[in-house]
Amino acid sequence: MSDSRFQGKVAVIGAGLVGCLAAIALAKRGYDVTVLEYRQDPRLQSTTDRNLRSINLAISARGIDSLKYVDPELCQRLLHDVVPMKGRMIHDLDGRQKELLYGINGEHINSLSRATLNNDMLDELDTLENITVCFEYKLTNIDWSETKQVCNFTNDKPSKSFDFIVGADGCFSTTREQMKRGVRMDYKQEYIDCCYIELYLPPGKNGQFQLTKNNLHIWPRGKFMLIALPNSDGSFTVTFFAPWKQVDDLMISETKVKQFLLENFPDAMDIMGIDSTVQEFINNPKGPLMCVECNPYSMSNGSGILLGDAAHSMVPFYGQGMNCGFEDVRVLMELLDKYKGDRQVAFNTYTDTRFKDLVAINQLARENYKVMSEKVTSKWFNLYKRIDEA
Ligand code: FAD
Repeated sequence: MSDSRFQGKVAVIGAGLVGCLAAIALAKRGYDVTVLEYRQDPRLQSTTDRNLRSINLAISARGIDSLKYVDPELCQRLLHDVVPMKGRMIHDLDGRQKELLYGINGEHINSLSRATLNNDMLDELDTLENITVCFEYKLTNIDWSETKQVCNFTNDKPSKSFDFIVGADGCFSTTREQMKRGVRMDYKQEYIDCCYIELYLPPGKNGQFQLTKNNLHIWPRGKFMLIALPNSDGSFTVTFFAPWKQVDDLMISETKVKQFLLENFPDAMDIMGIDSTVQEFINNPKGPLMCVECNPYSMSNGSGILLGDAAHSMVPFYGQGMNCGFEDVRVLMELLDKYKGDRQVAFNTYTDTRFKDLVAINQLARENYKVMSEKVTSKWFNLYKRIDEA
């Protein structure tokens, strides 16, 4: 759809998953879109600063419906390599497994590679003639006015001016910081006491999956847990979650890490390989987890709006951060269409209608840590008895 009601120059700050989808949706309406991303192009061999947030992600109906809304054919292309996960597979200390289905009618979520998804979306941006993508443009500040928004960047990059700004620059959003100067924004940021470390379960000898392919695997151990999501090549991306102090205490020695992993995840270590996993555990980045809430999401005159993690970073236990970011794009486009391109009305209505939902999902995501790490265990697992005895 290209429409004279949707005219103007828009900057999308951030070429992550949400920024890319927003750019495509805006370009399809006819806006002149410039995407400004501070990293190098991740598709280039020479790129050194990749987005390390997670190797794979779960996309659910919420995200898929939003992709379909923006472009059904694109959605099909982007999701060609997903691995459906029809339920959680719970692993107890004795290696027994129990499947908890997500639904009785085959409902499932889907695992896919973050890097492939992001790169495929960037390829799509290149095909749309009213989108320009500028890498290595790190936004530092925005001079807001009624008519023109001037973006300034590091490293003497030239300033650029736009009619309006879409901030999709993630949880540490500079756009959000700049908006706080122009609008009375309530803002809350909180780190939870949980560290995550990504580990790797390779494919078996003939490329086969070493765990059941169509499950999200969980080794729930109360205050800490291990999860594994399948990749299409037969491997699994495994993530360990635990309070920071527990991780710090383990880091004292290699022996301690080894003992801990063998005691708590013996079946996983059998197939992951204890020595390589210990090295990964020690050397891989230790990630913090943060929640962000703000209100409103936009400048009251329609000159800027926040989408995705910039507006509502959430902990990953509900697998909904990207999914909600994609939904943000759908909801915003519906409002722009409904109000015939009147940004002021569309943006203000967006905050009015979206805030409650985003606060709710943020809360659900936090609560789901308890569900995944404790409540999924049933009596027959006898887990806590074993841990207490240890
Ligand atoms: P980001 O992905 O953070 O992208 C922001 C972009 O903006 C980046 O490319 C960054 O380089 C750029 N940028 C930042 N500052 C500037 C600047 N000043 N100037 C220019 N560019 C800038 N979500 C799910 O839906 N399902 C899952 O299964 C899931 N699993 C997760 C697992 C983990 C371990 C973590 C940490 C998160 C997970 N999430 C999941 C959440 C998901 O990763 C985020 O919600 C999603 O990446 C948000 O996308 P975004 O585009 O808003 O932000």
